[in-house]
Amino acid sequence: MDPVPSSPASAATAVRTKSGHYSFWRLLREGLRGQRGWRPAWVKASPKPRYRVVIVGGGGHGLSTAYYLASHFGITDVAVVERGPIGLGNVGRNTTIVRSNYFQPANIRFYEYSLKLWEGLERELNFNAMVSQRGTLNLFHTEAQRDLFTRRANQMRLLGVDAEAVTREGVKSLVPLIDLDNGRYPVLGGFLQPRGGTVRHDAVAWGYARGASERGVDIIEHCEVTGIRHDGGRVAGVETSRGFLGADIVCLAVAGHSSRLAGMAGLRLPIETHVLQAWVTESLKPVLDVVLTYGAGHFYVSQSDKGGLVFGGAIDGYNTYGQRGTLPMAEEVAAAAVTLLPGLARVKVLRQWGGIMDMSMDGSPIISKTPVEGLILNGGWCYGGFKAIPAGGMTTAYLVAHGSPHPLATHLDLGRFAAGRPIDERGIGPFPYAH
Ligand SMILES: Cc1cc2nc3c(=O)[nH]c(=O)nc-3n(C[C@H](O)[C@H](O)[C@H](O)COP(=O)(O)OP(=O)(O)OC[C@H]3O[C@@H](n4cnc5c(N)ncnc54)[C@H](O)[C@@H]3O)c2cc1C
Repeated sequence: MDPVPSSPASAATAVRTKSGHYSFWRLLREGLRGQRGWRPAWVKASPKPRYRVVIVGGGGHGLSTAYYLASHFGITDVAVVERGPIGLGNVGRNTTIVRSNYFQPANIRFYEYSLKLWEGLERELNFNAMVSQRGTLNLFHTEAQRDLFTRRANQMRLLGVDAEAVTREGVKSLVPLIDLDNGRYPVLGGFLQPRGGTVRHDAVAWGYARGASERGVDIIEHCEVTGIRHDGGRVAGVETSRGFLGADIVCLAVAGHSSRLAGMAGLRLPIETHVLQAWVTESLKPVLDVVLTYGAGHFYVSQSDKGGLVFGGAIDGYNTYGQRGTLPMAEEVAAAAVTLLPGLARVKVLRQWGGIMDMSMDGSPIISKTPVEGLILNGGWCYGGFKAIPAGGMTTAYLVAHGSPHPLATHLDLGRFAAGRPIDERGIGPFPYAH
């Protein structure tokens, strides 16, 4: 099934090239001309009084929705309204892991679709997003966990998605630094998704922004939405720090701020807000060329192209909009890191940061209409929304354009919580923070 329409001719003719085609020859030419020919990658637009679609949030999902609306659905009367500069929210704060190793068939199909879009993204956007399919390796430490992972891998393979069992020896050859017999949770083996990997996060925001802007989308930075106007149950537009913007459709793509923004329209979402931290070490020579996740705790690590080890853990367990996080979580993650990779014990951590997570009550996202007509929600990404940016944007754009859910996102409707059919991704019953 290919539920994605190819670019309609009307969209293709709307392309307005502003920054020019990026290529080796352009690099060479600019190098010889003193770099004087580069132009801004996107236009810093000022707000107009009215748009057909206003997207709130210049993160990955907002920008990709705008891009696909313009490029695949021919809708260019669109504004992306961002309260700061684009790309400084979670899209620029995550640990950059992409994969589609889920358990529920509907989720596997959705995230696999995203992975396929990642695979063609750089060519489509003509932008180097450093897509690196180095493989994601999930470790298991008990026989029960082996069963669970086998079940998940079998589901994936039945749907045509890559998943391979890896022996202890195989794990060691993939990750020579690992201590398989560590005293806490010896490693019994792992599961590899060879097509998983990493993508340079901020390049994703910039690439989508450039693609959207060149097709006529207004990207309006430093414009905070302070209210959502709705008359008689229908959305009318957004109040912003730069005035009122009328709109037929308003799409919220504000990640950790989903409940706050939905609250402006009188909606209460099944979402809680938490902080998730990440860390990066000093640069090392190449020591790790897969994305490694620990099965006995919450720890995941990959090595960036600059050489730093980028790693993270679980959310801090209290509600907050602060982007800092606490030391106990840092300690827990560091303990997991040196349990698994003792050679890291003396490596210095250079930076720590946090991002605000919109944790849904079943750990799966929401791409849905809302009870306010014309108000669409893209949110509830928990801490797995980066990998979903291409599919999230495409399916949200589809919902905006067609008024009905994309075939791969019907299970992500908001109504599932009230109707008692949450998504049981972990296979152990739904519960808050099930991500
Ligand atoms: C430390 C960390 C590690 C992570 N690791 C991974 C990972 O490895 N893989 C993965 O798949 N996911 C990961 N995630 C999750 C992922 O980053 C998020 O789920 C995803 O980026 C959220 O979507 P977004 O990019 O649209 O959000 P954002 O980039 O946060 O975009 C939302 C935007 O809305 C704007 N906004 C908010 N309120 C307003 C307002 N009132 N008016 C105007 N604009 C507003 C914000 O400023 C922000 O720019 C991680 C997250 C963190 C923090």
